[in-house]
Amino acid sequence: MTLLGRRIIVVGLAAALLGAGAAAICFSGLGGLVDQARERLGTVLLVGDLLVEPGEEVTLSASLRHGLRLEGVAGRRVQFVLGDTLLAEVRTDKNGDAAVQWKTPDKAGDSVVRVRLNAGDQPSTAVEDAELRVAARPKETKFAVVDLDKTLVASGFIHVLSGDAQPMPGAAAVLQRLARDQTIVYLTQRPDFLGAASKRWLLSNGFPPGPVLTSTAGLRPGEAGLRPGGAGTLMIGSGPYKHTRLAEMKRTFPNLVVGIGDKFSDAKVYAASGLRPILILHVDWSEDEPEDYEKLAANLAALPDSVQAVTNWSQIASILFEGAAFPKKDMEKRLIQVARDLRERGKD
Ligand SMILES: [Mg+2]
Repeated sequence: MTLLGRRIIVVGLAAALLGAGAAAICFSGLGGLVDQARERLGTVLLVGDLLVEPGEEVTLSASLRHGLRLEGVAGRRVQFVLGDTLLAEVRTDKNGDAAVQWKTPDKAGDSVVRVRLNAGDQPSTAVEDAELRVAARPKETKFAVVDLDKTLVASGFIHVLSGDAQPMPGAAAVLQRLARDQTIVYLTQRPDFLGAASKRWLLSNGFPPGPVLTSTAGLRPGEAGLRPGGAGTLMIGSGPYKHTRLAEMKRTFPNLVVGIGDKFSDAKVYAASGLRPILILHVDWSEDEPEDYEKLAANLAALPDSVQAVTNWSQIASILFEGAAFPKKDMEKRLIQVARDLRERGKD
């Protein structure tokens, strides 16, 4: 992807945030880019994966949105299809939303519902089908909760948006092994309009299937406690967002075993929600400012003692499968020692 292409996507994201009620973003001088971004965003079908019990009655919902502000598109026929069976066809309401009640199979397993527009309602640039995964699990199922960016994805957000994001070495193999006796839930604050791209990335990089829980760029039905007409869960901050989602999960599924993420807030929320917290730190050991190491150590010191601090997925494998421990205190000590050495060298 060209640099210009990346800029267009970033502008698109920023504009979508603006549509979601974010602080005003100045686009002066970016008119051409914004127009291209508008074209690129086009019309999208947004869905959210579900985690339920077998035999449960659920609401399958989708939202048809258009353009930079992700405005709802009314009066289009949305089809919910499972295998070769059309479960329902529902016209979008004034907000672009379409929903149908559906009873999940009595047997545990994943149903991947294809959500698509009726061919007769497709705009000139066809709207891509969306996949809505309904993961039905018995109450006693064990779950591993995993973050995406800088946890499974090695590179920064710009690479994620442009589609050339690389996975962290070993991450897929570790999750494949973990998936033998736990259900993997991908819990990210990425907004729902990146859901399809996230799923494609996980699949093409060999990660096990699992529900991908995203935040919403605009308010969606059923999101209690948020200001009507205001921003969705994208804007409430990663920590509070994940805390809310884990609390929802725990109401049905008490066995959330382990949480893996790269943010201090991830580790804090996992610990507070009763998961075993594993924190992946991205430490640049060639850094020569002692303050940077001291700041990391101070952030670690503020976390609960149960946090395991690692720098790669082979350490995570040894925690999960070999009973190894990487207490965050060890990492704190190492960081403080590196800072001390740098300060002493500075005095010479
Ligand atoms: Mg992350």
